[in-house]
Amino acid sequence: MPLANDSLQEKYSRQTLFAGIGPEGQQRLLASRVAIVGCGAIGAAAANLLVRAGLGYLKIIDRDFVEPSNLQRQTLFDESDALKALPKAVAAESKLRSINSSVTVEGVVADLSPSNAEALLGDVDLLLDGADNFETRFLINDVAVKSSRPWIYAAGVASYGLTMTIRPAATACLACLLESGVGAQGLEETCDTVGVLGPIVNLIASLEVAEALKLLSGHPEALHGRLLSCDVWTGRMQSIGVARHPHCRACVRGDFTYLAGEAQPHITMCGRDSVQIHERARALDLGVLGVRLKPLVDDLRQNDFLLHFRVAPYEVTVFADGRAILKGTRDPAVARSLYARYIGA
Ligand SMILES: [Zn+2]
Repeated sequence: MPLANDSLQEKYSRQTLFAGIGPEGQQRLLASRVAIVGCGAIGAAAANLLVRAGLGYLKIIDRDFVEPSNLQRQTLFDESDALKALPKAVAAESKLRSINSSVTVEGVVADLSPSNAEALLGDVDLLLDGADNFETRFLINDVAVKSSRPWIYAAGVASYGLTMTIRPAATACLACLLESGVGAQGLEETCDTVGVLGPIVNLIASLEVAEALKLLSGHPEALHGRLLSCDVWTGRMQSIGVARHPHCRACVRGDFTYLAGEAQPHITMCGRDSVQIHERARALDLGVLGVRLKPLVDDLRQNDFLLHFRVAPYEVTVFADGRAILKGTRDPAVARSLYARYIGA
C-alpha cells in the first residue's frame, strides 16, 4: 500500500524499508494515537523517537516544569526552556512540532489523578509510561486494564532500568507483577536520592518505543513478551517471563483501587525535598497573583503557565490550575502555611 504522498514517503523511507514495518505498517502508525504520562527523561526520549517515527496524534501529560538539573538526561529540553521555567508539556509540545509537523502533538499541564485519568487517557490507542512514581503507574494500569488497551511500563534510576509491555487479558499486568507477593520488581529508589544516568533512561525509552512501533504498526507477534532489565554500568541484561497472577486484583478481579480510590490527597511528596499541594478546585489568575506577590517575595518569574518565586529557604512554583510545588520542605504543615500565606487559602 503506498503512503499518502511523496513527501511522507520520503520522510519515513528508512523505516518503511525495514521489513518489520513496511509501507502498510507505516500507514497504520500514521493513523495511531498515543499518550505519554510524564515527560521526564524516559517520557521525553520516547516522545522524540515516536514523533520522528510518525504517528497521528501524541498527547503528553506532565505536571512539572523544566529545571537546569533535568538537562543532563532529558533530551527534548534546552537551557532556554529551563531559563523560562516552561512546563515540560509545553516545551515538549513546541519542540516536537518543530521535529515533525505532520504529527498532532498536544501538551497537557496536569497531574494525572483518579479524577482526570479516564478523561485524559480516553482517546488514545496506547499508553506509555514516563512517570516517576508507582501511584501514577498503578493508575495507568487501572485505566488500561479497565478499557482493555495496551500500555508499556518503563522505569529507570541510577544506572538500572526495566520495561514490560502490558496487554490486558493477554499478558501479566503491573498488579500481577508487583502486588502478587512473589518478589517486587519495581524500583524503590528515586532519581532524586540516588541520581540517574542519561544512557539508562534513553535505553529504556528506546526499548519502550520499539515495542510501541510493533503494536502500532500491527505486529503484536514481534513483542518480546518479557520483563527486560538492564544496567548500563555493570552491563548486566536480564529477560524474565512474567505469568499472569490467577487472583490479580486488577486484570482478574477487576478491582481498580487506584482509579476508584479516594480523591487525590491534598499534599503529596514530590522528589527529595519538595511537596506538591492541590488546595484549589478553581483556576488562578497568575497575572493578578504576580502583581500582589512582587513586593513580598524574591526572584519572581512568570510565564503564561506558572509563577515561580523564592521565600528563603523555600522555592515556590504555582501553576494556573492552582497546584503548587514547594521546594525546601517535606513538612505538610509548612507547605500548607506557605500556600495559605502567599497564594491564598
Ligand atoms: Zn494483573
